[in-house]
Amino acid sequence: MNALSENLAKAEAHLDRILGNGVMNLVGGERIPAIDGTSFETLSPVDLRPIAKVAHGKAADIDRAARAARSAFPEWAAMKGTTRRALLHRLANRIEERADEIALVECMDTGQALRFMSKAALRGAENFRFFADRAPEARDGTVTRTEGQVNMTSRFPIGPVGVITPWNTPFMLSTWKIAPALAAGCTVVHKPAELSPLTASLLAEISEESGLPPGVLNVVNGFGEDAGAALTEHPEIRAIGFVGESGTGSQIMRQGADTLKRVHFELGGKNPVVVFADADIERAADAVVFMIFSLNGERCTSSSRLIVDRRIHDDFVELVKRKSRGIKVGHPLDPETVVGPLIDPGHQRKVLDYIEIGKGEGARLALGGKVAGDAGCYVEPTLFVDARPEMRIAREEIFGPVLTVIPFDDEGEALDLANDVAYGLSGYVWTSDVTRAFRFSENLDVGMVWVNSENVRHLPTPFGGTKASGIGRDGGDWSFDFYMETRNVAFATSAHRIPKLGG
Ligand code: NAD
Repeated sequence: MNALSENLAKAEAHLDRILGNGVMNLVGGERIPAIDGTSFETLSPVDLRPIAKVAHGKAADIDRAARAARSAFPEWAAMKGTTRRALLHRLANRIEERADEIALVECMDTGQALRFMSKAALRGAENFRFFADRAPEARDGTVTRTEGQVNMTSRFPIGPVGVITPWNTPFMLSTWKIAPALAAGCTVVHKPAELSPLTASLLAEISEESGLPPGVLNVVNGFGEDAGAALTEHPEIRAIGFVGESGTGSQIMRQGADTLKRVHFELGGKNPVVVFADADIERAADAVVFMIFSLNGERCTSSSRLIVDRRIHDDFVELVKRKSRGIKVGHPLDPETVVGPLIDPGHQRKVLDYIEIGKGEGARLALGGKVAGDAGCYVEPTLFVDARPEMRIAREEIFGPVLTVIPFDDEGEALDLANDVAYGLSGYVWTSDVTRAFRFSENLDVGMVWVNSENVRHLPTPFGGTKASGIGRDGGDWSFDFYMETRNVAFATSAHRIPKLGG
């Protein structure tokens, strides 16, 4: 038995169990079907076969879950931080114990390659550990003194919150939002992406196995327009942590307006990787290839625009082409696979349409550009050269394995090109000139810059974007800022004269 067949056999066993039970909602500690009894099917992008029936939650299910989260909130918020820490570490342990299962199921549900999903599953555990360790101090604040007054400023959990997640790397992203909310003392209603709901149900199981009190984490499956919208509009839900498309972010902002919802948005990107002629070309090319073709290019921080010094343009493009040719496109459970099938036929169509648009706009296809394989939603790693900044393939988020190359003549032009899009999530700069690296990265209108590196996430640092890429930051203490309110209590330190108004 080769590694692929072995992984497939293991994945099938896990999927059989999920298929047998069906994916239920988790509300107030109970696994229940949708109130109206409806369900939807989720298909594997590998072969478009149905792999689970999923409870189709709607406004009534969200209402029940929001009320469960509200009931569980006072006790969870009042729990000692050290107890919450211990519970969340137990949850992280359980993720580690079930990491293989999570990764295998994630691959079959999303089409992402096992080599990345194995790490992503473990990152889920790390996310919980990182925020668990901060739970005991989450409420800490400052004391300031002024004449006649001592101010005690501290934070407290905002209340029940909604978390809405997308279909790319869904398990890791869910833990990234849910772990800080729980550590802060909030209770959660999670609405996973309808296209990849399976690992959210594993997280729900894990939360029960770890002894999380009922109602602290609730999961309601459903679509954006019903369950998602209801969550953002629900009056008991104090805040929405959302990861997804920029357009959906705008819609959520409108939906949440009546209840004055606090929102945290991690949205789309069209991230520049800027390569100067003095860069370490070999490493830069490896990073460029990694950041566009790993995770199928379905990655918010993918470096989808290569902005390269014209003096090295041809050689650099040749290098990127050479390094990309060896990339294995195939079954996500094959350990050699880098690019698996895209999430669904609709998204595959969207990516292929962009390839046609690019050709129509006059960019030159230097690599790929076609469907790969006979079944499943595969697209070849694709490279466009001779692109101009006004082309749609140079401005819009394709969210697939498609890289667009634009040359520049000087640093000023490179900066203009890098900043001249609606998005501002991340940027990558390759140069050996340290002064330029400082100057350039400080002027990039993005939330995160990596200099001479691919995206390497360090949890204590802020993660998030500017412009259409988001509102707010995650990571470190920034996540707690979102999930907590700040209160100031001013104590008078002397019996000062109160102004008398008449009498
Ligand atoms: P999407 O916006 O279509 O859906 C995301 C989630 O929002 C899903 O759960 C969906 O059901 C829900 N939703 C849709 N409409 C809604 C509505 N009206 N009200 C409430 N919820 C609604 O995004 P997607 O296609 O699943 O994910 C891909 C996008 O996510 C890309 O744009 C990508 O860049 C972005 N993303 C961003 C980050 C980041 O950190 N910035 C990370 C991952 C993905």
